[in-house]
Amino acid sequence: MAIVIVDDTTFSLEVIKAFLLSAGYVDIITVQSARELYQLLDGQSDRGKVDLDLILMDILMPEINGIEACRNVKMREEFVDVPVIMVTATTDKDDLQLAFSAGAMDYIKKPLDKVELLARVHSALRLKHETARRKARESELLEVTRQLKAANERLQNLSFLDGLTGIANRRQFDQGFLQECRRAKREGSPISLIMLDIDFFKAFNDTYGHLKGDDCLITVASTLKKALRRPGDFIARYGGEEFAVVLPNTDDIGAGIIAEELRASIERLRIPHSNSQCADYVTVSLGIITRFPDQTARPEDMILAADRALYRSKHEGRNRVNLERLGS
Ligand code: GH3
Ligand code: MG
Ligand code: MG
Repeated sequence: MAIVIVDDTTFSLEVIKAFLLSAGYVDIITVQSARELYQLLDGQSDRGKVDLDLILMDILMPEINGIEACRNVKMREEFVDVPVIMVTATTDKDDLQLAFSAGAMDYIKKPLDKVELLARVHSALRLKHETARRKARESELLEVTRQLKAANERLQNLSFLDGLTGIANRRQFDQGFLQECRRAKREGSPISLIMLDIDFFKAFNDTYGHLKGDDCLITVASTLKKALRRPGDFIARYGGEEFAVVLPNTDDIGAGIIAEELRASIERLRIPHSNSQCADYVTVSLGIITRFPDQTARPEDMILAADRALYRSKHEGRNRVNLERLGS
């Protein structure tokens, strides 16, 4: 980390350098014009790219003066935190005003007093280091915050998604269904629930193995999810090979159409199932319940009713849809 002295007079350069050396500063670069300084900043000097700690800048220089040079330094993103102390023979208030507005942090009068110069240099360097430390801490904090946010999102997803199929899990269903039931009450709209179960799935596992069973569950889940096109509808893995579909603002007729679409979407997959007793491929049975605004059934009553409808579908031969009515 270097201190740069910019001054067109060799004598001034030598004096300042000697003062700094006597105080133990070793990395000192002297340049005699703003142009030479720019070359240094551009990495075009013998030293290549330099890390700067401080610039001591003469104001009165031919061609480009110190104020202009200071402004140039401050316009460079990379050097914006490098303090610039103006070294000046004039104490013209206007000049000083200009120097400060160009980004200088301090000024020292010529003829130079060693004690004063070293005190100013010392405090400028301390400020520079504190700024650097603060910025490093800030970016560390930003990084930690970013990581925490990402970890939280992952955790949140893990606790609400089913590990095998990636769709909503039972926990999310419980929350989401309750929420939708409340909303339906508030808004005076019907709500439907479909319970869906894969037919003869135990036989599927026994025939093709548990891993193929897992693959089948994944395919069924993603097919059902794709078949649901309205943004409010949602599907969850209720448990094992059973799925639940919540249809807000949907009456029994609408739910019947969607249930039939879900059933057909699985049938169309034609996943071979040689030991199914109802088809040569994987099928599903479904049960529907609808709650209308004038009915008072609780979410758990609806689940029980949809399960009864599902049981009827199983009982009647599977691969079909049944509808239960509340209170019947
Ligand atoms: P039904 O037509 O009456 O529904 O008969 P079923 O064989 O499908 O029903 P049952 O409840 O007797 O069996 C369900 C099977 O689902 C048993 C269980 O091993 C299997 N199963 C549940 N969860 C998973 C899973 O995550 N992976 C796999 N491969 N199988 C599962
Ligand atoms: Mg089953
Ligand atoms: Mg089951």
